[in-house]
This record gives sequence, C-alpha cells and structure tokens, in this order.
Amino acid sequence: MSSNTYTGSCHCHLVSFTVVLPRPLSQTEVCNCNCIICTKNGYLTVYPKKDDVVVKGEQELKRYEWEGSSCTHLFCGGCGSSLFVELKQAQEGRDGGRAREKGERGVNDAGWC
Ligand SMILES: [Zn+2]
Repeated sequence: MSSNTYTGSCHCHLVSFTVVLPRPLSQTEVCNCNCIICTKNGYLTVYPKKDDVVVKGEQELKRYEWEGSSCTHLFCGGCGSSLFVELKQAQEGRDGGRAREKGERGVNDAGWC
C-alpha cells in the first residue's frame, strides 16, 4: 500500500473507501467548494483520478442534487454522512489547479479516518 493511500468511511460504516493520491494529502490540491451544502458543512474536497478511488458499499449511497447545482452530492443512506460529490459538468482549473471532467468524483473530508 502506497504512503499516499488513505481510507475513510461514513459514520455507520455501511460505506467505506480507499483512495490513492499522486502525492501526500498535505501536498494535494484541496477544493473549498462554494456550493450551499459544502459551505454550510465546511467540507473540503480532493479530486483523485476515478480509478484511484475504491468504494465498498456503493449501493448504500444516496444521491442529492438541486436545479442549478454543479454537482451531485452522495451520502450514506444509513447515517447520512456526506462522502462524495460528482461533477455534472467539466470545470476549469482555478488558481493553477487542474481542470476536472464531467462525472469526476471528489472525496469529502467528512469521511476521512
Ligand atoms: Zn453510514
């Protein structure tokens, strides 16, 4: 297991994940999303490559989005923990960060162990 491998789960452990980042978390670009949910909860999100995120309990995830939202929020159907966001449209890189593709999944800091 790489030293850049991180694990996390929701509160009730129905959903857990392993993510491999290209570099340590302390050196990884973190997104401070300005959507209303991320702002109210203070979520910070990283965007690893899709293939570098393995989710157990994917079938337990519920989806939430609203008209005009730029992403879909994914949360545990058992305990309600918000774990991921999926982009509904491509996003340009900001502040030197990389661009992100439609469907790319971000991992919320709320689930990190
Ligand atoms: Zn849960």
